[in-house]
Amino acid sequence: MTLNFKNMCTGMFLMGAFTVANAATPQFNPNDYSTYPTYNGTDLELAITPEAVAFALWSPAAEEVVVNLYPTDRNSRSIATIPLTRDANGVWRGTAGPENVGKFYTFSVKHNGQWLAETPGVWAKAVGTNGQRAAILDPSTVNPAGWDNDKGPEIKAINDAVIYEMHHRDFSVDPSSGIVHKGKFLALTEEGTTTPSGSATGIDHLKELGVTHVHILPSYDYNSVDEANLPANQYNWGYDPFNYNAPEGSYSTDPANSAARILEMKQMIKALHDAGIGVIMDVVYNHTANNDDSNFSLTAPGYYYRYRPDGTYSDASGCGNETASDHQQMRDYIINSVKYWADEYHIDGFRFDLMAIHDTETMTQVAAALKEINPNIFVYGEGWTAGDSPLPVDQRALKENVAKMTDIAVFSDDIRDAIKGHYSNAEDRGFATGKPGNEETVKIGIVAATAHPQVDYSKGNNSKFPYATSPSQIINYVSCHDDLTLTDKLRKSLPDATDEQRQRAARLAQTIVFTSQGTPFMFAGEEVFRDKKGVHNSYKSPDSINAIDWTLKESNADQFNYYRELIKLRKAHPAFRMTSAEEIAKNIVFDKVETPNLISYSIKNNANGDEFKEIKLIFNGSEETQTVKVAKGDWTIIAEDGKINADGLGTTRGGKLEVAPTSALILARVK
Ligand code: CA
Repeated sequence: MTLNFKNMCTGMFLMGAFTVANAATPQFNPNDYSTYPTYNGTDLELAITPEAVAFALWSPAAEEVVVNLYPTDRNSRSIATIPLTRDANGVWRGTAGPENVGKFYTFSVKHNGQWLAETPGVWAKAVGTNGQRAAILDPSTVNPAGWDNDKGPEIKAINDAVIYEMHHRDFSVDPSSGIVHKGKFLALTEEGTTTPSGSATGIDHLKELGVTHVHILPSYDYNSVDEANLPANQYNWGYDPFNYNAPEGSYSTDPANSAARILEMKQMIKALHDAGIGVIMDVVYNHTANNDDSNFSLTAPGYYYRYRPDGTYSDASGCGNETASDHQQMRDYIINSVKYWADEYHIDGFRFDLMAIHDTETMTQVAAALKEINPNIFVYGEGWTAGDSPLPVDQRALKENVAKMTDIAVFSDDIRDAIKGHYSNAEDRGFATGKPGNEETVKIGIVAATAHPQVDYSKGNNSKFPYATSPSQIINYVSCHDDLTLTDKLRKSLPDATDEQRQRAARLAQTIVFTSQGTPFMFAGEEVFRDKKGVHNSYKSPDSINAIDWTLKESNADQFNYYRELIKLRKAHPAFRMTSAEEIAKNIVFDKVETPNLISYSIKNNANGDEFKEIKLIFNGSEETQTVKVAKGDWTIIAEDGKINADGLGTTRGGKLEVAPTSALILARVK
C-alpha cells in the first residue's frame, strides 16, 4: 500500500534515507508500509536481567532514538539520556545498568529532522501516574500469594459460559455496596460485603447469581480519567486507550506506585478465579485516544493507522482514527498484547471492541495464539464498525464474516433488537413488548444464526442469511453498557406500563436469551432492574447515573431470584448449549403459530445429552393471555406466568394450556 503523507504532521521524508546510516539496515520504502521490516520478539522496549536493563524500540523510519531516564513517575527532570543504536528488523537497541530498576523512562524519536514528543512507547507494562512515563519494573515480579497456582474455570466450550458485563465503578461505587475499595480492582476481592439490610453484594453477589465469567470494561491504562486527581471521582467507560499493556491507574489505590495497579488487578483476578469465575477483558485495539501524539504515532509515525486517499486518518471507529491490523507489525502487536494479558494476568477471554475494524485473518490468529496458551480462553467481539474503512468488506471481522474466522464469536444484534426494539430508537418496541413482526428474527436468535429448515432468514430484521456455522460463534444479549439499559428501554417504550409490568417484560426478554443456543451475555445490575436514569450514552456520566444501587436487590427481590433461577436452569441443561448447527437443526422444532408475538418450540431428543427428552418453550410477548396446544404427557412446569424454578413449579398433563401475557411457559418431560 502506498500512502500519501502530505497532510500528515510528520510531512514527507526521503526514500532510502536510511540505507546509508547502517549497512545492516534492510532497504525499505518509508512511504510504503508493506515494505517495512517487522519484528515479532517479546523483548521489545524493556527487558530486565540481573546484568542490565535493555531497551528496544521498533521504529524503522526513525533517524535517532534515545531513552530518557527519570527518578520518579512525574515532576522530575531527566537524569540520563541513553542513545539507542539501529539494529536489525527496524529495532533500535541500548542498555543501562541494573541499578536503574525502579526508575522511569520515556523514548524520544527523531523523525524528519525533528524530535517528536516523549512517549512511554507502545509496550509499557508498568507505568506511573497517567501513564506518561513507563517504569523499569518487571510485572512478573509483582504477584499476589498463590499466583503461580492461579487459574480460571475449566469451561472449554464458550456456549457453557454465562457472561456478566461490568464496569468497576458501576459495580462497587454506590454506598449501598458496603464495599471498602469502591471503584477499584480490589472491590472484587472483598468477601462478605452486604447492603445495609444484609443482601450479598460484590463477589458474593456474583457467586449467588451464578455467572461463570465477568467481562470487565476496559481495564488497561486509558486516557480520560486524571489519575493525579482521584478525589474528583471522574468516570469513564475507558474506550480511549493509552497504554495497552498496563492496568488503568484510577482503578488502583495508588496510581503513582506502578506496582500497585499490577498487583491489585492480579489480586482481583485471583479472587474471581478462587470463586470459580473467569475474567474476560474488553480490549480496544481498533483506535487510540490520540492521533498524531498517540504512543503509536510517536514511536513509528504513520505506520499503525489507516488513511483516506487524501492522507487524513480514516475513522471507522468514530473516534478520530482506526488502526491497521492488516499491517504486519500491528497484527503482531495485537496478538502479542492479548497473549501477554493471558500469560501475565491469567485473563480468560477477550471482547474486541468494533472488531470489524480488524481483519478476519488477524482475529483467527488472535484466537489460535490464545488457545495455545489456554484452551478455555474465549474471544468475541462486535462484528461491526462505527464508520467506513479502507479495509475491504470481505476482509473485515464482520458479523456476516464470522464463518471465515476460527474460534471467534460475535454479538447477535438480531436477537437484541428483535426482543426489545431498535437500540437507538428509544420508543420502539420489540417481540417481548408487544410489537408484531419480530418473530422470525427472534427465531434467528434461538438457533444462534445457524441454518435451520424452519427459520426464514428473508424475514430477518438485520441479517438475511444464516451467518453462523456453529452456535459457538454467537453471543446472545438484549442489552449491554451501550445504549439504554433494559430498564430504561422498557420505561421509554412502555410509558404507560407499571414497573411491575416492565419487569415481566425483562424476565421474558432474558428468558429468551438464556434459553437460546449460543452464549448468553447480560449487563451488570439488570438482575436487580438497575437503570441509568434514561441516559443512553453514559460513558462519562457521573456515578449518580452509572452506579448500581444495590438496595434494588431487595426492592426487586423477585427479579433477582428469577435471573438466578434462569441461570441455574441454563447451566443444568446441556440442551440449551448444543455444540453444532446440525444438532440444532435436528433437535429444535418450531410449532406452527400464526398469532403475533407468540413463539412455541421444542428442544427434542435429549439434546446434547440432556436428561429432558423434550423441553417445550412458549414465549408470549403480547399483552393478552394466549392459548396453546401442547402434546399430552407428564410435563414438569419450569416457568410460568413470570415465575421460574429450575427444579419445577408443578406438573401438567399438557393439552390446551394458557400462557399469561408477557411471559414464558417452559415445560419439560423426561419420557
Ligand atoms: Ca489512565
